[in-house]
Amino acid sequence: MTMDHAIQDAELIPKRASKQRFRHSIFEAWGHNCAYCGNYADTLDHVVPRLHGGLTVKYNLVPACKRCNGNKGHQPLWAWWMAQKYWNIPRALRVLHWIRRQASQNAEHSWAHLPPERLPSGNPSEQVPATNCQ
Ligand SMILES: [Zn+2]
Repeated sequence: MTMDHAIQDAELIPKRASKQRFRHSIFEAWGHNCAYCGNYADTLDHVVPRLHGGLTVKYNLVPACKRCNGNKGHQPLWAWWMAQKYWNIPRALRVLHWIRRQASQNAEHSWAHLPPERLPSGNPSEQVPATNCQ
């Protein structure tokens, strides 16, 4: 980056362009892959649904394919995700890592502090996620 960078950040840009940059930065970070199933993602999903107080901030948003996004709806993340056949621990860790960056700035999402070692494994029916997002 050149010195233009600082000027760019202070630049007055149309809201729409600003929003696009914001969205783009999230898709970029995830390589345009759905955080949940790994397919191509062209929507952003609120990890904590807006209905449950989730904010439209970078680390509460992950790329999701239309299918996952529509499927998840307003359901709490872990309850929904772990019931899917593409439930995947490495991806779950990645999402945890992602939302923790936000959690460090917003301690009220205490469920995001679920330590990785407590991530359920094995039989999905025995998996009871720690979440207060209900
Ligand atoms: Zn998906």
